[in-house]
Amino acid sequence: MAVIGVTGGIGSGKSTFSKMLAYHLGARLFDADSAARELLKSDPAVREKITTELFAEAYTPDGQPDRAAIRRLVFQDPTAKARLESILHPRIRERWTQLAAECRQTSTPLVVEIPLLFETSAEHFFDRIVTVACSLETQLARTAARGLTREEAESIIRSQIPLEQKTSLAHFVVWNDGSHANLENQAAELAKTLPNPLS
Ligand code: ATP
Repeated sequence: MAVIGVTGGIGSGKSTFSKMLAYHLGARLFDADSAARELLKSDPAVREKITTELFAEAYTPDGQPDRAAIRRLVFQDPTAKARLESILHPRIRERWTQLAAECRQTSTPLVVEIPLLFETSAEHFFDRIVTVACSLETQLARTAARGLTREEAESIIRSQIPLEQKTSLAHFVVWNDGSHANLENQAAELAKTLPNPLS
């Protein structure tokens, strides 16, 4: 059964589309960003590594990850960003590869939303890859609505593989500058075509 990777730029609509696609496929859904948040919050080994090897202020005195402080640090310091990713990414990959193995065994389709799919060379784990794309203006408007400054958003965009490359490397490209209904239609259409080449 199919394991589908969904990727794209920041604010492109990956989460929204992944949920829609999983719904139309009757698939399970794994969200790499949520897994990262959960690891930061609940994994004692992650906390230990980050506070000792990266910076102590990453967690508040009551033990909660200080996401704003972490974001500021990785924004200013590419080495710290790489270090943080080296702590989180292998653990995230372990989770979804395990889930993918389970899903293949039970013939359950799986949608994995993974923003850095190409950056982490994860292509070969997936039967099909979908890139969700939109214009830069739309990306910036959506990230601004989330509280990111233009500078932060542009820095994140620059740190990722360019959109043109993400679209050319994918099996399918979903353009998400339109309405929710338009995106939903694309998810429904794609879900109809996906099982055939994979079964
Ligand atoms: P991030 O990279 O920040 O995790 P993302 O690529 O997962 O973002 P979403 O979280 O799906 O993107 O979407 C970003 C915001 O844009 C959300 O508030 C979502 O509701 C909105 N959005 C996504 N697609 C559309 C659309 N077609 N029409 C209107 N709003 C949309």
